[in-house]
Amino acid sequence: MRPVADVLIVGAGIVGAACALECVRAGLKTLVVESHIVGGGATGAGMGHLVVMDDSPAQIALTQLSCALWKKLQYELPQSVEYEPCGTMWVAADAEEMAEVERKSRVYAQAGVASEVVFGKTLYEFEPNLKPGLSGGLRVPGDAVIYPPTAASWLLDRAIVQGITFQKGQTVREVQEGGVVVLENGDRLCARTVVVATGANATVLVPGIAMKPRKGHLIITDRYPGHIRHQLIELGYLKNAHKSTQDTVAFNVQPRRTGQLLIGSSRQYGALDSRVEESITAKMLERALWYLPHLKDLLCLRVWTGFRAATPDKVPLIGPAPNPETGKPMEGVWLATGHEGLGITTSLGTARILTDRLIGNAPSIPWEPYDPSRFALKREDIP
Ligand SMILES: Cc1cc2nc3c(=O)[nH]c(=O)nc-3n(C[C@H](O)[C@H](O)[C@H](O)COP(=O)(O)OP(=O)(O)OC[C@H]3O[C@@H](n4cnc5c(N)ncnc54)[C@H](O)[C@@H]3O)c2cc1C
Repeated sequence: MRPVADVLIVGAGIVGAACALECVRAGLKTLVVESHIVGGGATGAGMGHLVVMDDSPAQIALTQLSCALWKKLQYELPQSVEYEPCGTMWVAADAEEMAEVERKSRVYAQAGVASEVVFGKTLYEFEPNLKPGLSGGLRVPGDAVIYPPTAASWLLDRAIVQGITFQKGQTVREVQEGGVVVLENGDRLCARTVVVATGANATVLVPGIAMKPRKGHLIITDRYPGHIRHQLIELGYLKNAHKSTQDTVAFNVQPRRTGQLLIGSSRQYGALDSRVEESITAKMLERALWYLPHLKDLLCLRVWTGFRAATPDKVPLIGPAPNPETGKPMEGVWLATGHEGLGITTSLGTARILTDRLIGNAPSIPWEPYDPSRFALKREDIP
């Protein structure tokens, strides 16, 4: 078959949209196929916190690169993307968590990420609505917040203006070795490289990849401008949010530009039903009320769920897809998925790594930690 494009991207969530823009800018003839609406998957369900995270050197490198790319882009973003450089406040409840503040600030300093350790009084100057008696926190002023679905649409619109082809309402049924996709209507398309950017659905097209869906709930309030000023996250988040064996809930609240508060977050494995679970939202609100007692006077408007695409090492899969039978790379089939709770942040870094590799540019950061081959023969490791 004759290739219709250099790159055919399946999925127009924020990752697919970012990859499309980066590919077309690099001079690659690019086609995007999306079954539903732009930014309607996990992207529409996500929180939009642009955050440098330090679970592993690979995670810190990718989140740092990505936050720098967002920062550079901020002046081009339209109002609808709601880029807010509000920063993050990691909240420490006690002395043990203050020790974690110190450790985290050292890791950030080593990576060149600015942060500020704050003690009790200063914490309340920044965030007067936090409950009294907390020990302090770590303020990371460079973190920001966006509204993910409009960001995805903007990235894709920019890519369209620069010449990509976008096929909406087309579901890819199958992806085959040699860069071939089969659409639901039976049509076949071929590209030099097919990039599967279908989020948590990627295992449908490329079975056996090391990834599982991880359900999350979010709650949004009515408008209360100024109630909080930073994205607030408990330091216990690090202990709680990433246990891979049980349902977890952590205090994680975001100030929206609209004045609304977006309350997170929960993580569940094995929950494939997208319905809201009251037992989970009750735990989330209990946790949030513990930190922000005045929340009890605020009106919650809406609750929803979404699915994160979780890999065993919390690092995405960017590069040639492993063949499920042989473990060897599939010819002409790449992955850009597995971003768990960081895909809004890391969409831009993912696009950069993917494109650098496709065109043979010097890498912005080493790409090996994100290469899917790291799990090719270790499927039993999936938690
Ligand atoms: C509750 C929650 C909170 C989160 N908070 C944050 C946060 O604060 N910060 C952050 O950085 N990240 C956050 N995330 C993670 C982030 O939302 C995801 O990592 C990111 O949206 C993944 O984007 P994606 O483009 O890979 O996938 P998706 O957004 O799911 O997009 C995949 C696209 O592929 C399309 N598609 C699927 N199958 C096919 C097919 N067969 N053919 C054609 N098209 C197909 C879908 O319609 C969809 O549009 C959160 C996620 C959740 C669930």
